[in-house]
Amino acid sequence: MTTEKFDKIDMLPLNDIKKLQFQLLKKQLDYVWKKSRFYRKKFSDAGITPDDIKTLKDIRKLPFTTKEELRLQNEDFVCISNRKTIDIGTTTGTTGSPILLPVSKKDWDGFVRIVKRGFSMIGITPDDVVQLTLAFDQLFSVSMPSDYALKEIGATVARMGPGNNKKQIELMIKIKSTIIHASPDYMFSLAETAREMGYDPQKDFFLKKGIFLGQPLFDRNDRPTTVKKKIEEIWGIECFSDYGSMEMLAGLFECKMHNGHHSYADWLYLEVINPETGEVLGDDQEGELVATTLMLEAIPVIRYRQGDITRLQNNRCTCGRTSPRIMSIVGRANHLLKIKGTSIYPQQIEELLMQEPGIKNYTIEAFKDANGCDAVKIMAGLQEKNDKVVESVKMHLKTKIRITPEIEVLSPQEIYAIWFRHGDRKPQKFFDLRPESLA
Ligand SMILES: [Zn+2]
Repeated sequence: MTTEKFDKIDMLPLNDIKKLQFQLLKKQLDYVWKKSRFYRKKFSDAGITPDDIKTLKDIRKLPFTTKEELRLQNEDFVCISNRKTIDIGTTTGTTGSPILLPVSKKDWDGFVRIVKRGFSMIGITPDDVVQLTLAFDQLFSVSMPSDYALKEIGATVARMGPGNNKKQIELMIKIKSTIIHASPDYMFSLAETAREMGYDPQKDFFLKKGIFLGQPLFDRNDRPTTVKKKIEEIWGIECFSDYGSMEMLAGLFECKMHNGHHSYADWLYLEVINPETGEVLGDDQEGELVATTLMLEAIPVIRYRQGDITRLQNNRCTCGRTSPRIMSIVGRANHLLKIKGTSIYPQQIEELLMQEPGIKNYTIEAFKDANGCDAVKIMAGLQEKNDKVVESVKMHLKTKIRITPEIEVLSPQEIYAIWFRHGDRKPQKFFDLRPESLA
């Protein structure tokens, strides 16, 4: 039995965190002012220099950075030469030209260091055998540092990558994997294959924990989502959420208290803002996450609008750590749907669809109806056409979130093909066909 290791930076008194973050912020700002053509111009245009930032709160004087700016002026953001670049990543789920994110040796090492801290929070030890099922290719710069971090902890790593369900399952049993890093959807697909092979996901495996990326495990009221409940029920394992982004060059994890994703106070400065007005919100208020990197060398971002809707907690977690926490991600700011006076995110629709036993999979489309109002169409993957299932979904959507979408029934295979029709590395379940999002 190993006792839990706490990194001292994650345990700093709250005031010391602020001091540390201010020092690092000043350094990062001086650095981008000197090295980034983009920030030099952006700050100059705003009539501001790093010298005007005299307290941590003064960060609010700085303008926000958008993904669109990063896309259109990608090269102007880069602060290092090709000679110092050791890896190139890209952002996930983007349309249009990809955003390239170079990584320096210093950034890479820093990333490994923080992810190692994150994995320790989950309680990964040298006794663990960790099966990694996320992509290692397609410029996804997250899996490799995770691999390095786990090796530094001393855990055994099985670098499988995605797909190959049968091999994945055979290996999982053979090497007695105790932890899996995966997308929630992949866990459902693995369970299906395991059963086909005659295995019981509850009894025939050695898995104790799963780390899941891409779908929230808690809703906006901190209640477990259906995804979490289903995985726990099928596999009998403890679920840990993973939130990260390539722009932050970070993966943030839940600790054993499952009380939000612990950030790294020396790596990121986080804010939550009202997405419409830009006003900075207080702890526990829902809004858009804004991240400032504090130590990046290749492509630092300052007040970068992550586009994810969540809440922040800056108080001490019940685990004892003081690092700021990002609570559950409830949706994407630009996916907000305003339907007959109700504001909802597609995730809330997904949550209800997940609860419908007859539905295997689904996609959600947002569009403008004849009156120019937001409307939703659901394509539900059913093994066979079943009016009862469709009626039940309609009733739940109407009574629980007050929407009455059009529902088209397809086969699960057809839905699956739609998920991956753009060749994405993760399934695309939401399609925004509203003119403003296509512009
Ligand atoms: Zn904690």
